Amino acid sequence: MGILDGKRLLITGVLTDASIAFRVAEVAQREGATVVLTSFGRQMRITQAIARRLPETAPVVELDVSNQEDLDALEGRVREHVDGLDGVLHSIGFAPKGAFDFMGAGWDDVATALQISSYSLKSLAVAARPLMSGGGSIVGLTFDASLAWPVYDWMGVAKAAFESVSRYLARDLGADGIRCNLVSAGPLRTMAAKSIPGFESFENSWPERAPLGWDLTDTGPAARACVALLSDWFPATTGEIVHADGGVHAMGS
Ligand code: NAD
Repeated sequence: MGILDGKRLLITGVLTDASIAFRVAEVAQREGATVVLTSFGRQMRITQAIARRLPETAPVVELDVSNQEDLDALEGRVREHVDGLDGVLHSIGFAPKGAFDFMGAGWDDVATALQISSYSLKSLAVAARPLMSGGGSIVGLTFDASLAWPVYDWMGVAKAAFESVSRYLARDLGADGIRCNLVSAGPLRTMAAKSIPGFESFENSWPERAPLGWDLTDTGPAARACVALLSDWFPATTGEIVHADGGVHAMGS
């Protein structure tokens, strides 16, 4: 018996098998869940190929979170595969190159970062809500936004907004029995991470600072935290941020 037996999950953000979302989908299926993935545009075919590496090949529906037509069509596209949802994983992040120069960034780049990396949690929740009539769990991924980092810049600001969006969703969806929580992961070598200039600056310090140690190539700890939050084992927890970072957030430097 698995902790997600009978659960129907929508999992966004599977791009490669290094994606955090890929590992969430894998662990979720092993724990008994039925999984539907999302992807968009040119990445669709890559996601479809990666979906075949899961224990059970998962269907992939089109969703660009910045495209209102996709958001409006989501319910119908998901219903082609499952009759409702018990959980949704938001594993989406993007900022244009210019957003990684804090003082130089222009509003267009910042606006794109905020739309895709912060506002999209609200967009996804609104789109998925009609499918979650029995309540459920929304889980997203953040990178500790309570601090200014040597790199990360407007993506850090976007994550601060994302963390706040999650708390407001917890407020507004609680009456429907829908929880909204985040996992704050330590640095992991994914495509999103590779696009962050200076990401290497985390690479030496994090494993050293983490009391539990930290493996930059192992998405398992963050994925398992997501799966736990998608299960029935956090029934009274919402608006929370669970750290899966080896313990770094709790240490002084
Ligand atoms: P990833 O590159 O594998 O995944 C990012 C995903 O975002 C991709 O699947 C991409 O298709 C999707 N995406 C981008 N724009 C989109 C759009 N408009 N519509 C729909 N999907 C879109 O990288 P990842 O590291 O697995 O990132 C997943 C989440 O984890 C992100 O929110 C990221 O910020 C967060 N996170 C990553 C790290 C890390 O170090 N890698 C640490 C903490 C949190």
